[in-house]
Amino acid sequence: MTDASPALRPYVGRFAPSPSGPLHAGSIATALGSWLDARAHGGRWLVRIEDIDPPREQTGAAQAILNTLQRLGLHWDDTPLRQSAHLDRFEHALRSLEAGGQVYPCGCTRREIADSQSSGSAGGALHAERPYPGTCRAGLAPGRQARAWRLRVAPGVVQFNDRCLGSQAQEVSREVGDFVVRRADGLWAYQLAVVIDDAAQGVTDVVRGADLLGSTARQLLLTRTLGLPEPRYMHLPVVLAADGHKLSKQNGALAVDDQPPLLVLGQAMTHLGKHLGFDAPQISGAPPLQNWLAQATETWARRFGILRAF
Ligand code: GLU
Repeated sequence: MTDASPALRPYVGRFAPSPSGPLHAGSIATALGSWLDARAHGGRWLVRIEDIDPPREQTGAAQAILNTLQRLGLHWDDTPLRQSAHLDRFEHALRSLEAGGQVYPCGCTRREIADSQSSGSAGGALHAERPYPGTCRAGLAPGRQARAWRLRVAPGVVQFNDRCLGSQAQEVSREVGDFVVRRADGLWAYQLAVVIDDAAQGVTDVVRGADLLGSTARQLLLTRTLGLPEPRYMHLPVVLAADGHKLSKQNGALAVDDQPPLLVLGQAMTHLGKHLGFDAPQISGAPPLQNWLAQATETWARRFGILRAF
């Protein structure tokens, strides 16, 4: 373990898509922002395929994602890592948390948790904002089978500085409660896997969509509990569909591979610039992709005050 702050370690960024479908305008804006930040810092940019949830996976999506990144000129360093190839890392982390008494087995079903929460709101599904009531915290009731594993969350506010959004704070114990690190279906929870792999890959800077902002405090808690180095975070504005919802295949994400790469990148950069306060480099005159990306990197470096000494 190292205490070195991310600014003192050589920059390593990453793009970590789940292969649940092809990239869409939203995930491309995230990929572009993360790539630009790495290149503006003269850092490395890794791609990690987060394929630990087979039921949500779409056959061929991982390769399609890599092909799209290539086509857009968003080249990566090293060989892309598939999370499924390193499941032993997660097992090892769980065992160490268990040895420290920081996780416990939980026998609750989703329905039991939902029923125990005194909310009359519609839907019935367990909502992330309703905290786990801690039913199994002091041990499984007699006759109950362990289903999931949860992290024991102590009271206290988790604070961090987001490079886009500024100071953030969440009281995980009150807002989320003890959260799942290994799911009842035996699969690894995203929260655990992302923390372990970011540390294993030496990631110093997590640049991703603001839809994941609500997970960051949980990930920091796990990072701290495991004694791993903390990355810096930058959450980028998400691209919304015309109906105001998050873009997804269901609400009409356009097939980006059918459009010219410069147009796709130009739209992503315009979206980022609109929210973050910069102008995207022109795509008129069809500049070579590499020239446009170099200009975009300059724009990014200027906007975020990144000194470019290389
Ligand atoms: N795999 C996650 C997703 O595709 C992103 C993980 C992350 O960037 O932390 O939504």
